[in-house]
Amino acid sequence: MKTRTWFQTIIRIDEKYQDLLVGLLALIGFTGFVQEEKILKSIIPKQKWNNTFKNKYEEILDNFRIEFSSLDLSYSGSIIHEENWNKKWEKKTGIVEATPNIIIKPSWKKLPKRHSNKLLLHIDPKMSFGTGHHETTRLSLNLLEQFLEPQMSVLDFGTGTGVLGIACIKLGAKSVFAVDNDEWAIENTKENVKRNGVSKQMVVKLGSISIIPQLKFNLIVANIDFRTISKFISSLTSRVRKHGIIILSGILTNDLPVLLKSFAKNALVPLETVAENEWTSIALRRM
Ligand code: SAH
Repeated sequence: MKTRTWFQTIIRIDEKYQDLLVGLLALIGFTGFVQEEKILKSIIPKQKWNNTFKNKYEEILDNFRIEFSSLDLSYSGSIIHEENWNKKWEKKTGIVEATPNIIIKPSWKKLPKRHSNKLLLHIDPKMSFGTGHHETTRLSLNLLEQFLEPQMSVLDFGTGTGVLGIACIKLGAKSVFAVDNDEWAIENTKENVKRNGVSKQMVVKLGSISIIPQLKFNLIVANIDFRTISKFISSLTSRVRKHGIIILSGILTNDLPVLLKSFAKNALVPLETVAENEWTSIALRRM
C-alpha cells in the first residue's frame, strides 16, 4: 500500500450551504469531507491538487458566490496524512437506506434485522465518492431499479466506490464494465467488488472514455458532473446499443434544460426523471 498524502481545503461556511457545495466538489473529484458547524474541510489526493484543479475549484467557489452573495468563501489549504481523516470518515459513515429496497453498509457495521430481506451492498468507502450518502448516488440506484433488466450488459462510467456497478450485478445484470480515472477509486472498487462476490461479472479499469468499447452496452450509468456529461454525451451515446438506456446523475436541476437540448441532438429520449433536493437524475433511451 502506497503512503497517502492529501490536500485539504478549509472554508468557513454555514451548515445550511454545505451539502450543496459538497455535492459540487465531490463531482469534480474531492473524495472526502469533514463537515463541522461553520467549517467545511474538503480532501483530495495531494498529487491531484495542481493548477488546473485549483482553477476548477475556484470556479465553483466563484459561481457559489454569485448565487449566494452574502458568502465570503475564502479558503486555506494544507497537506494532511491518511490516518488523520480516515478515522473521522469511519465514524461518520453508517448504514444507508438508499432506496426502499437497497441498503448500503460498510463492513464495520452490523446489519439491523429489519433490513435482512433487502438487497445489500457492502461498500467500504475509503477515499472514493459513492457511499450512498449523496443524493446523486441514491437517485441513480432508484433509476437502476426501474430500468435495469436481467442479463443486461452495463457500463458504470465514473464508478467511485463501485457502488452502482455492484448494484447492477445484484439487480440481475449479466456483466458490468466499470471505469474511473482516479486510481484510488479503482483500488477501492476492486476491494468492494471482491467483498460483494461479483468479481466474475465485473471488470474494473482505470481510464476514461477512450478505453470503453463502442456499441456494447444495454445500459450506461454515469453519476458525474454537468461539465463532464456535456463533454461526453455523444461518446457515451455511441457506446450504448440501439434502444439501450442511459442513466445520468450528478445534474443540478437548474442545469437540466441545457442538457435536454444536447440529449435531443443525440437522439436520446427522456423516459423518467427523479429529483432529491437540488439534484436531478434522468433515464434516457437511445433511438
Ligand atoms: N458512481 C459513484 C461515484 C460517482 S462520483 C456514485 O454514484 O456514487 C464521480 C466519479 O467519476 C469519481 O470517482 C471520479 O473520479 C470519476 N470521474 C470523473 N471524471 C471522470 C472521467 N472523465 N473519466 C472517468 N471517471 C471520471
